[in-house]
Amino acid sequence: TVVLGIETSCDETGAGLVAEGRLLGDALSSSMSEHARFGGVVPEIAARAHLEAMLPVVREALTRASLDLSDVGAVAVTAGPGLSTAVQVGLASAKAFAFALDVPLYGVHHLAGHAAVDVLEHGPLPPRCVALVVSGGHTSLLLLGDLARDPIVHLGDTADDAAGEAFDKVARILGLPYPGGPSVDRAARDGDPRAIAFPRPLTRPSDPRYGFSFSGLKTAVARWVEARQGAGGDLPVADVAASFQEAVADTVTRKAVAACLDHGVDTLLVVGGVAANSRVRALAEERCAAAGIELRVPPMRLCTDNGAMIAAVGDLLVRAGAPASELRIPADPSAPLTGALLAGPWR
Ligand code: ATP
Ligand code: MG
Ligand code: FE
Repeated sequence: TVVLGIETSCDETGAGLVAEGRLLGDALSSSMSEHARFGGVVPEIAARAHLEAMLPVVREALTRASLDLSDVGAVAVTAGPGLSTAVQVGLASAKAFAFALDVPLYGVHHLAGHAAVDVLEHGPLPPRCVALVVSGGHTSLLLLGDLARDPIVHLGDTADDAAGEAFDKVARILGLPYPGGPSVDRAARDGDPRAIAFPRPLTRPSDPRYGFSFSGLKTAVARWVEARQGAGGDLPVADVAASFQEAVADTVTRKAVAACLDHGVDTLLVVGGVAANSRVRALAEERCAAAGIELRVPPMRLCTDNGAMIAAVGDLLVRAGAPASELRIPADPSAPLTGALLAGPWR
């Protein structure tokens, strides 16, 4: 069965085609540049852009896969979480495809997609693994079993900002261009990660072992920058970027490795947009190697939002014989992650 995956939870319109754990073709359109002058994603602009990009993106994915629309045997779509207006465009499109083609529809959880996409690059997941999800809206440690069948266990979440959000905010503080994550990563290349000792939030023994918090770290960066500018000094942008990035990478990888060791799990999955960060990747590699843990990180272009990741979840569900969603499945902008398929009475 060829699964068409559709993703529109934020500012990327993505379509992907997957069968039997293999990516056949995908395409992506982003409205990122349209949001740049607002410093963040504007939901109404994103929704309109999804509407315009949807059919061209699906067509391009089909062309790249050398497939026809009639070859599609199931449709998977992000039903949440995400920006409500954005999710609804993808969901309505997916319903139309499923209805017109008379194939099953699977409403899936966006974060399950971030995890499942690694299957396309590195093959089936082991029976159990820990996933560190670090993205624009989430920072979570999850205990995964069979993604298509088992409930997902939340080990910990962020108490405030997500890791990606912290990167975006620090970029603004430093006057680096939007989107912030890649800008900070680039600026940090020429900086000294030990130049400034920014705090490692929630790493004392009495703190929640798998909890994260990034708003205090962001404030520490803002204070440091204010103090330096108040004293009339030049801002060492590269050093601040590198030191901040080090604090995030140190915190998330330390907790992720601890979660693996605590639960006797020998595979760590690092996924989501911030998994594209060069220092997070390098430090995760170093620490997993030292702890005898196998590290799996999707290739960079599959770390940020895309359609292939949603098709990957759909493919797992199809092959597991999971029940399809009803066509009346609603968008769920703040869906909790209990499993890959969005649960609810409509299932
Ligand atoms: P969510 O998946 O939680 O709904 P999202 O879809 O907005 O949120 P993703 O597309 O998964 O998030 O990731 C985008 C985030 O990743 C942004 O905050 C961006 O700054 C961050 N990011 C992307 N590349 C890098 C990088 N190289 N270094 C650090 N952060 C990065
Ligand atoms: Mg994005
Ligand atoms: Fe995402």
